[in-house]
Amino acid sequence: MGNVPTAVKHCLSYQHLLKEHLGVTEGVPPEQECQITGFPQHIKIVEVGPRDGLQNEKVIVPTGIKIELINRLSEAGLSVIEATSFVSSKWVPQMADHKEVLQGIKKYAGVHYPVLTPNVQGFHSAIAAGATEISVFAAASESFSKMNINCSIEESIVKYEEVVRSARDMNIPVRGYVSCALGCPYEGCIVPERVTEIAKRLYSMGCYEISLGDTIGIGTPGSMKLMLDMVMKEIPLSSLAVHCHDTYGQALANILTAIQMNIQD
Ligand SMILES: [Zn+2]
Repeated sequence: MGNVPTAVKHCLSYQHLLKEHLGVTEGVPPEQECQITGFPQHIKIVEVGPRDGLQNEKVIVPTGIKIELINRLSEAGLSVIEATSFVSSKWVPQMADHKEVLQGIKKYAGVHYPVLTPNVQGFHSAIAAGATEISVFAAASESFSKMNINCSIEESIVKYEEVVRSARDMNIPVRGYVSCALGCPYEGCIVPERVTEIAKRLYSMGCYEISLGDTIGIGTPGSMKLMLDMVMKEIPLSSLAVHCHDTYGQALANILTAIQMNIQD
């Protein structure tokens, strides 16, 4: 294992984890293992690397390489790949080639390629470029919203209402993100009540799924559980997802906590 941290070692093998922590013995067929442990039988992975990963790169990745990356992710068997963001190139120059990327990738049957649309202009550009599914994101932290998208939470929600209305008129599914769900780089701790409130706003405006994002990776299994316990009281489990950054090596542990609470995305 070399220098692999303990938390990662424990998550490397699902079988090992079942045996070590849950007393599931060898020789049990996989279907029965799922029934014994109560883990969901199916987990959907939403791959966001081409958007969330590449928009944070200091260098601008060439369009052809982005297209190649997304094609390979499709070939690897992922069913949802967030391809790019239709944000202004003034704010996020790394995503300025959104149209070329969305139109340049191979669209594999059964694979969804949602794109992020921060406002109604972005939404219309995305649709014109062939997008069939979109995402919007609101922050649970006022300071993060102002620093990241240059408007208050309330102003962002008003913009998204317009985006979601336009999308619903065209039968375009919308996924909603809540960023800073487990902490903010400016405000520190974010209370679960705040996360729940923003998640509810996105869900009630028509987002079919709400992804709760640990944007800066400061969450722990404890804070993940507290936050999910509260959000799950207001939003059906089947419409919840988590988005975990591995800044402090906690992403896998946090994801496992969400899976143990029956989150399947
Ligand atoms: Zn992220």
